[in-house]
Amino acid sequence: EKPPLSLLGLGAMGSALARAWLAAGHPLTVWNRTPGRAEALEGARVATTAAEAVAASDLVIVCLLDHSSVDDALAGVDLSGKDLIDLTTGTPEEARARARWAQERGARFLDGGVMAVPPMIGVPGSGAYVFYSGSPAVFEAHSGTLATPAATVYTGEDPGLAALHDVALLSAMTGMFAGVAHAFALVREEIPPKAFADLVVGWLQAMVPYAYGVAEHLDSGDYTKGVTSNLAMMVRGNATLLRTAEEQKVSPELLTPFMTLMTRRLADGHADEGTTGVIDLLRVP
Ligand code: NDP
Repeated sequence: EKPPLSLLGLGAMGSALARAWLAAGHPLTVWNRTPGRAEALEGARVATTAAEAVAASDLVIVCLLDHSSVDDALAGVDLSGKDLIDLTTGTPEEARARARWAQERGARFLDGGVMAVPPMIGVPGSGAYVFYSGSPAVFEAHSGTLATPAATVYTGEDPGLAALHDVALLSAMTGMFAGVAHAFALVREEIPPKAFADLVVGWLQAMVPYAYGVAEHLDSGDYTKGVTSNLAMMVRGNATLLRTAEEQKVSPELLTPFMTLMTRRLADGHADEGTTGVIDLLRVP
């Protein structure tokens, strides 16, 4: 007999989570603002209001568009005695505010950041996982339920930590998207997309351990340690990248923000470093 739970939000992610819990045999009550989205979920109990869904189970999971949609959905709903888990993507401060908000309403709170796209949910070996932070008691009490749709990683009692991990990884991914977009823009007239994609994937996979070098620099304080591509050489290389963009009639706007920082760091006298010093320049006073 699997523990029951209620889920608010049947968007792409909420529906994927719902299917995983239903497939594992959890009694599941669902609610969605726009009715009808539960029809595809065989075996789910459909609540007509958020309050009804919350009342149905001690464990309540929300997966809505953003922080303010959670305010909308749970306005005036009695949460006393509930364990509330918020899988909506938000900022660390939003998660901390939600934790205080839940506590004021008599609920225990755990925040979550989903590191997966919906098709990875409920698929063993897909690499899907969820960062959690907040109440360790809630994490432990529901560990089996939480492990059903994706692997779990508890990051600490500060409710903001899951969002911080989540958003930091999404930020790294955004840089990758930008680089890939620029690269395809350069080659789109001359290299078939699929052939180029094979090359991009291989190259980025080979370059990605760069992050471990950055970690070593930050840990040691020595930003020149193990550097094989120094800033002086790379800034010179940037000029080649920009001239190629110009030749190919591609806007350099995705490249220039990072290049500007590299140039500034070089001008500050750090020719022997890699790019780690850019991190120091990013801190807003
Ligand atoms: P969708 O756009 O598919 O669904 C959004 C959901 O939020 C719907 O259930 C929608 O209800 C509901 N909603 C929006 N505004 C309100 C509101 N004011 N009041 C009540 N409900 C509202 O998004 P996803 O399911 O893809 O994403 C949900 C969360 O999961 C987001 O925070 C997203 O960042 C996160 N996530 C998504 C991933 C993805 O790849 N899809 C990956 C990782 C995290 P309605 O049907 O009525 O519009």
